[in-house]
Amino acid sequence: MNISRSRELFQKALLLLPGGVDSPVRAFRAVGGQPLFIERAEGAYLYDVDGNRLIDYVLSWGPLILGHAHPAVIEALVEAIHNGTSYGAPSPLEIDLAERIQRFMPGLEMIRFVNSGTEATMSAIRLARAYTRRNKIIKFEGCYHGHADLLLVQAGSGVATLGLPDSPGVPADTVRDTLVAPYNDLDAVESLFGRFPEKIAAVIVEPVAGNMGVVTPQAGFLSGLRAITQNFGALLIFDEVMTGFRVHPGGAQALYQVAPDLTTLGKVIGGGLPVGAYGGKKEIMQLVAPAGPVYQAGTLAGNPLAMTAGIATLEILANETVWSRIVEAAIALEKAVNEAARQAGVTVQQTRAGTMFSTFFTETPVINWQTVKTSNLTRFKHFFKAMLENGIYLAPSQFEAGFVSLAHTPEIIGKTAEAAHKAFMQIPE
Ligand SMILES: *Cc1c(COP(=O)(O)O)cnc(C)c1O
Repeated sequence: MNISRSRELFQKALLLLPGGVDSPVRAFRAVGGQPLFIERAEGAYLYDVDGNRLIDYVLSWGPLILGHAHPAVIEALVEAIHNGTSYGAPSPLEIDLAERIQRFMPGLEMIRFVNSGTEATMSAIRLARAYTRRNKIIKFEGCYHGHADLLLVQAGSGVATLGLPDSPGVPADTVRDTLVAPYNDLDAVESLFGRFPEKIAAVIVEPVAGNMGVVTPQAGFLSGLRAITQNFGALLIFDEVMTGFRVHPGGAQALYQVAPDLTTLGKVIGGGLPVGAYGGKKEIMQLVAPAGPVYQAGTLAGNPLAMTAGIATLEILANETVWSRIVEAAIALEKAVNEAARQAGVTVQQTRAGTMFSTFFTETPVINWQTVKTSNLTRFKHFFKAMLENGIYLAPSQFEAGFVSLAHTPEIIGKTAEAAHKAFMQIPE
């Protein structure tokens, strides 16, 4: 594959942007090589600056559930842009999108729109702390909730521990109140509540983990979190920034029938434009300014273009046959990849939740960060590169989810299966 123009651009970008990118995982460091620069995208395809056409399973890291440049989304945006790009005042679009979200997720009795998933989670935690008048929070190892200081935490030693900063620049004091437990480990959560029974404001969880690759919750994990938090007067926050509209039209809360107190959203609800949201029980949301005292604001929040793209996307997703077509594509892909791996004699753990998937190169079933880490990263790297050479653009890291869209037709899945077959065959012992 010729990538000479991408190479040139990357050299230039390295002088202007730290690492040549605006978000770390884009730089391909985990797989070696260098990123492709994209010129345009349509349907299931990315077109890079060298004229290569690639079948895209990153989909801007999840948002583009209808595929790139879906005609209905583009048409709505073109129409909307003539009405201006931002008002700094309320518009009917915010009500429209909020109502649509609510139809899918009735648990969001009230919603506040923000500009990113990061903003959504940090605001939801501020709110949970204010509501409970407690400071500590529990998060899970391997779950990502955006890059706010208090959530940039790694687990220290021990099974369920106090968090340590996961980045220079995050003061230890900032994460002093962030406790970390292994995913799918209710005992660890119980023991943290046992240690700090009246100090924990909230448990925040990716109800299906996507940010260590796709790891599903074991039976009873989410309902267990619901019961424990209720017992101890803490809030349960589902971070559905990725899983919202991806694992089920109503999110993981509909799929697993567990109702959190607060939910954070992003990605799909912006239809490819920058957006985030948090919402939940009215009694709690009423504390958010100006209804209540918990301050949180945004110059571009509820942006009319972002609302428009979100509305157009959810309008199409409201059609149940649309949703089932996307899931069918994801299931077909899962089967094909499993079969290709089996034929090549490569052991993988293929995980999937709705329209999200991962392929882990390990014999160990993946249930948490410890088991995910057993994946053979050299094999992943070979697989990633071979797939790219065969025209398939996967997330350039083992620890990221893949995504399927409405534009991934059976023919495109078939092409992907052929590429996977070749790629598995090329993996060295
Ligand atoms: C992507 C993501 C975020 C952060 O969203 P940004 O829009 O990138 O700030 C937070 N939580 C989860 C679960 C995510 O997948």
